[in-house]
Amino acid sequence: MNIHLICTGTELLIGHTLNTNQQFIGDCLDRAGYRLATERCIPDTGEAIAAAVREELARADLVITVGGLGPTTDDLTRDAVARELGARLKYDPEVHAVITAYLAGRNVPVPAESLRVQAMVPEGATALPNRNGTAPGLWCPAPGGKFVVLLPGPPRELQPMFRDQVLPRLRELAPPEVVRLSFAVCGRPESAVAEVVEHELATFPGIEPAYCAHPAQVEVRLSAAPAFRERLELARARLTECLGDDVLPAGCTDPAQAVATMLLERRLWLATAESCTGGGIAKTVTDLPGASAWFCGGVVAYSNDWKECLLDVPDHLLTDHGAVSAETAGAMLDALFRRYEADAGIAVTGIAGPAGGTPDKPVGLVYIATGLRTRQQVTRHLFPGNRDSVRQRTITTALNQLRLQLLQNA
Ligand code: ATP
Ligand code: MG
Repeated sequence: MNIHLICTGTELLIGHTLNTNQQFIGDCLDRAGYRLATERCIPDTGEAIAAAVREELARADLVITVGGLGPTTDDLTRDAVARELGARLKYDPEVHAVITAYLAGRNVPVPAESLRVQAMVPEGATALPNRNGTAPGLWCPAPGGKFVVLLPGPPRELQPMFRDQVLPRLRELAPPEVVRLSFAVCGRPESAVAEVVEHELATFPGIEPAYCAHPAQVEVRLSAAPAFRERLELARARLTECLGDDVLPAGCTDPAQAVATMLLERRLWLATAESCTGGGIAKTVTDLPGASAWFCGGVVAYSNDWKECLLDVPDHLLTDHGAVSAETAGAMLDALFRRYEADAGIAVTGIAGPAGGTPDKPVGLVYIATGLRTRQQVTRHLFPGNRDSVRQRTITTALNQLRLQLLQNA
């Protein structure tokens, strides 16, 4: 099934709005076993939309358009596509009733004419009800057994419509072309992960690997024809065996999720002490719903004064070894157990740059102290990249270091 996407909207072309709908649709299709063959972004003029639909329909089995279904003068997709397909637009009282029911109780005065515009359906098309807005999507048959699907632009309207109404229709049209699975590996460079994967996959013909590198973490995606589903699972099992504890548990996309599961199971409380990450570790763990059951809190101590006052780092230690040192990281971690009574802790101190580096202590130097009351570890790192990259690598590496300690302490 050859699927092409057209995203309409001048705001996308001028960089005002990030095209997250493309990302969402591409990802959803990929997970469901279909591939988005191509995407193009066009201004919202009637001519541009009509031309794009014509050109893409010549090459695709299914063309998806996004945006321009609303009631304003720049919402021209419905008209342009109907014209291109030679389908008359017909007022649909049922669609009108659905929109009226959606608006009932919301107390939004909507002019009658704009309601009517959104209830116009090209002849032969099916309206896809919109749970989070007024304009329905439209599933339109096109000559040659092809289809054009029109979806609204706002992501909160498009996403459930795509998942619940477009994907099932797609499955009816054609079975998935590939089966896929993915897993995350933490603590090994992409090239080292790839070496293991390529070597092992030599004995699993038909399984294709792909890699997506994130700071201090790599996502490995395996894909195969549906006939090789079982072989795909065997390949995953073999790779998990080879990469050992560096593979995050199934379903975990970052080490924080694995840490959360273990802390919760063991009824342990985590605290954090952060300097160079400025609260990024606390942010990452509290992004997980339910963190209040295992995260007690975090101290962000950027200056030496605050490291002394809030984390009891001795003055002499800061003078002798400096704020960015294994000794300071260890003392910061210690305070989490002694002063804040945590069961598990993470402390980080480093030089994120771009300024502040010296020959002895260059930009990217980070010390990470993690552990439980009974067992602690301080590691030294020289992370590459800019400020953002150094901080993100610190966050992921610190959480992964604690994850490995929790695994060993099971
Ligand atoms: P509305 O009824 O809100 O006008 P619509 O179907 O006409 O919806 P547009 O007018 O094209 O859609 O876009 C509405 C809003 O949706 C835009 O302001 C933008 O914030 C968002 N949006 C549109 N396209 C995209 C996209 N590809 N990625 C992310 N957001 C988008
Ligand atoms: Mg609009």
